[in-house]
Amino acid sequence: MTVTVTAVDVHDVRFPTAAAGDGSDAINRGDYSASYVELRTDAGVTGAGFTFTNGRGNELTCAAIEALAHHVTGRTVAEIFADPVAFWRSLSADVQLRWLGPEKGVIHMATGALVNAVWDLRAKLAGKPMWQLLAELPTEELVASIDFHHITDALTPGEAAAILDKGLIGLDERRAGLERDGFPSYTTSVGWLGYPDDKVRALTRQAYAEGWRAMKMKVGGPPADDLRRARIIRAEIGPDALLMMDANQVWDVDEAITNMTALAEVDPYWIEEPTHADDILGHARIARAVTGLTGGRCRVATGEVAANRVIFKQLLQAEAIGVMQIDACRVGGVNEVLAEILMAAKFGVPICPHAGGVGLCEYVQHLAVFDYLRVGTSLDGRMVEYVDHLHEHFVDPVRTREGRYLLPEAPGYSSTMKPESIAEFRFPDGPVWR
Ligand SMILES: [Mg+2]
Repeated sequence: MTVTVTAVDVHDVRFPTAAAGDGSDAINRGDYSASYVELRTDAGVTGAGFTFTNGRGNELTCAAIEALAHHVTGRTVAEIFADPVAFWRSLSADVQLRWLGPEKGVIHMATGALVNAVWDLRAKLAGKPMWQLLAELPTEELVASIDFHHITDALTPGEAAAILDKGLIGLDERRAGLERDGFPSYTTSVGWLGYPDDKVRALTRQAYAEGWRAMKMKVGGPPADDLRRARIIRAEIGPDALLMMDANQVWDVDEAITNMTALAEVDPYWIEEPTHADDILGHARIARAVTGLTGGRCRVATGEVAANRVIFKQLLQAEAIGVMQIDACRVGGVNEVLAEILMAAKFGVPICPHAGGVGLCEYVQHLAVFDYLRVGTSLDGRMVEYVDHLHEHFVDPVRTREGRYLLPEAPGYSSTMKPESIAEFRFPDGPVWR
């Protein structure tokens, strides 16, 4: 792999989703956007990565990527992967830019975009979809890709290696099962907060007819409205299908417990982001309370805004989550997600990745499949979020069948956008925004 990255191109791509209420919840009402990175190489292959933002401010993540890009330009793929942690730290611990985080927010999301683009490039050069590249890597190489700094009190390199070695057993059978049946999924498309009741009912009925047996609704509006909408969905899906709720951090801790007490009547499977994303102890208190409400079924889920592996470590250590929702590009890309997946396995918490937005489904399907094949080795409680927005802008979009993701087959991380979509939706000069 003497392939050299010759240039890093950054594109501010925004889709006008806010007007339709798509993606609307208790906090966010945005224009789904991507700070999109293309790594040009002397081999003619282009690595693609991005981080997701909610519209205004996408220029900030783009600028942060530009500020970090010199760590990638001029390097060969071989030297990057010869010492992956050194490469990762060149971005996440840049001696001047680290002050802007550290390892959180705009600067860390920019790291994620670049790191993911490097991994996409590697997978394309290997001719393998990302899940396969990761699942087939030797244990030593996977462990060597992880920065264990600040997490060794939860997971040591030796423990990670033991989990990954064990994951080799039965891998071919698990892969055959996924090729046959696909990966379990749930849909978030039925219950955005900005949708009127009739639309919620119609979308729920349609999703159930299409085979979905797990659905998520947004909560965090007036409590009476949340309960009314929840009853509509529960009535449509019957008692056996799973109903998840997502408050997008809007509640205080006691408010979350009060509101979930009222919503317990519709048997929620999880409450997602019940309070501020940084409130580890608050999540732990809510988790203890909601478990008591529903005989142990209901759990707390979070992760889409968890800034880094250290936050996930604490959520796990504090027994604050029963579902871990890794995000592909909120944190520092594939390398950091590997640490999170392995910590979840060590603590016995299932991973249900966060998706939606733009391109997040495309990314996380690979991570969930890798987790199942090589780390978690069980589908029990595992589901990938699905939202049916904006897939048409990707060269290798996700495919679903009867509520399950089908295995990606094209080489890479499914992160490549169509050139015509970039041209049309580029901000502020694309035709859509002029
Ligand atoms: Mg969410």
